[in-house]
Amino acid sequence: MNAKFERDQKIYQCRNCERMFATETAFEDAEKCCICPDCGKPKGHKNGNTQCEECMHKSWAETKAKKIKKAETVKYNPNLVYHNDNEHWYHDEDELYSSLEDCLADKEDLPEYVFVSNKIEGFSLDAYNIVENAVIDIHHEDAVDKIDVNGLQEILDKWCSKQEVVSWSGEIKQKVLVDDIIKEQGWEFEN
Ligand SMILES: [Zn+2]
Ligand SMILES: [Zn+2]
Repeated sequence: MNAKFERDQKIYQCRNCERMFATETAFEDAEKCCICPDCGKPKGHKNGNTQCEECMHKSWAETKAKKIKKAETVKYNPNLVYHNDNEHWYHDEDELYSSLEDCLADKEDLPEYVFVSNKIEGFSLDAYNIVENAVIDIHHEDAVDKIDVNGLQEILDKWCSKQEVVSWSGEIKQKVLVDDIIKEQGWEFEN
């Protein structure tokens, strides 16, 4: 017998996302398919995530809070670039000052911390991948070995080194308390 299911195998379908279950616990699996395991509420229509939207945001916030807690507290250095939780980047002291001033002017809370942002420069291209992608469908298996991949890599490296791309990281590894910056720099804001 080569049947996929026993004759009396029950198949259940999730009412929400229409996924089929034919396991031994098919009924239970289908019942809880689109239920958030954290809060037990429905996850919403065809939400591919394990958790519901609300619990997902809660998890993200918790992960971020942990990262912030774990981050090393460092002294403010006006020559470094900072960011505020991946939303704003301050490339110099003036930018940071104005941003805090704007916050106060808009009656918003000042951020508790700013985080050290590191420079990300350049990129590379992999000659082997490029060549392989180009020949894989039209040539025989060993074709890549007959091609001067190293020669192309040299050209690519040279070309990449001439491209000027700079980004600033949004990592949360080092933090500076904003209150300390204000105190140390003796900043006063106009209300
Ligand atoms: Zn479902
Ligand atoms: Zn939930």
